[in-house]
Amino acid sequence: MRYLSTHRQAPPASFAEALARGPAPDGGLYLPERVPVLDAGFWRTLPGRPLHATAEAVLSPYLEGEVSAPDLARLVADALDFPIPLVPLEEGLWLLELFHGPTLAFKDVGARFLARLLPLLAQPGRPPATVLVATSGDTGGAVAQAFHGVAGTRVVVLYPLGQVSPTQERQLATLGGNVLAVAVQGTFDDCQRLVKQAFADPALAPLGLTSANSINVGRLLPQIVYYLHARAQLPSDAPPPVFATPSGNFGNLTAGLLARRMGLACRRFVAAVNANDVVPDFLATGSYTPRPSLPTLANAMDVGDPSNLARIRALFNEDLPSMNRAILSSSHSDDAIRTAIRDVHHRTGTILDPHTAVGYLALQHHRAEWQDNAPAILLATAHPAKFREIVEPILGISLPLPPQLAACMERPLERVILPADYKGLARLLSSAPPPAG
Ligand SMILES: *Cc1c(COP(=O)(O)O)cnc(C)c1O
Repeated sequence: MRYLSTHRQAPPASFAEALARGPAPDGGLYLPERVPVLDAGFWRTLPGRPLHATAEAVLSPYLEGEVSAPDLARLVADALDFPIPLVPLEEGLWLLELFHGPTLAFKDVGARFLARLLPLLAQPGRPPATVLVATSGDTGGAVAQAFHGVAGTRVVVLYPLGQVSPTQERQLATLGGNVLAVAVQGTFDDCQRLVKQAFADPALAPLGLTSANSINVGRLLPQIVYYLHARAQLPSDAPPPVFATPSGNFGNLTAGLLARRMGLACRRFVAAVNANDVVPDFLATGSYTPRPSLPTLANAMDVGDPSNLARIRALFNEDLPSMNRAILSSSHSDDAIRTAIRDVHHRTGTILDPHTAVGYLALQHHRAEWQDNAPAILLATAHPAKFREIVEPILGISLPLPPQLAACMERPLERVILPADYKGLARLLSSAPPPAG
């Protein structure tokens, strides 16, 4: 499979090249040249199919000629070493629980694949990958945990000192080994600026720096898998479902749209956003105005300029009416999030995390707007205990810590503290030992 840039100004790339680059050289994002359609036999046998078998069938056409079938089987088993169950929430509505991985959020899926794809597809003679990420909290943890102990990789995570939650800090700054956590005396924007400077610094070129953010195809494509796995767990006679996807950078939604192009029958996608409403605005008006992000209770979705919108527009050839037929996007306030968490807990006993609550609200909005009773699948993107600082006061109860979290809360912090100035980071990157393996 060849990969093309959304800007169409860069030469086609192999999967390995697209993976190593992140963004294309022309500043666009890579998409597969064509979306492979799975045959009727596959769809007939999807109900009840195990997760790993679905993952292999979905990913093999994208990796054809670059990753062998036995390597793909190993990769899938290694990356998806946790279940992704579909559980009923209320009449006609299921939760797809994407939060059973090591950091209790769906980003584990993409990050764990990326961590294993990079060393598998590393070009001979090139230095092992050093992954450099800036995080405001969540992505850094998922990336750090995903790469921890993976031979031939090293991760450097920059986060703003004192500005991530204690839980988030333990998830990314207690690992050691091939994970270096750097607490920057500044803001998240400072961290991002430092990362950009490092990528642009020719002196660091020998390090083979790679990014692990959601624009990388190695994170995007594996997310297609769980849309099909959700369908595999619905009753086999159920009509095509609506998928509700809590969205920030819109990588998760893009994966759903790709699943549909591969042949998954879906009624519609509900793209749920918090107060950061540039996408619903774009869908309503056709003009795109990025804005600075607003802080909300669903902070992993606080994105004012979602990068994957470029991919969505390219997939639809900029055809706004067909985007609007496929996607209904609505924006929901912090007050509404609090009410939804309280209301769903009261009626069903289930506790939604703030991000999943936005998805729930958007689904309610969709059902009212379209008078739609199609079965609905709500992507539960994080475990509520991960955001207990927010959820506990709303419900007035305390949430038990899942074992993954309890374990890292007990480990000591292992981090380097740096001023928000590039020289220190450059020195640290060039002096840190190369990755083992
Ligand atoms: C990152 C994140 C999202 C948003 O996903 P995108 O792919 O960026 O749209 C939603 N919920 C949680 C919990 C997240 O961590």
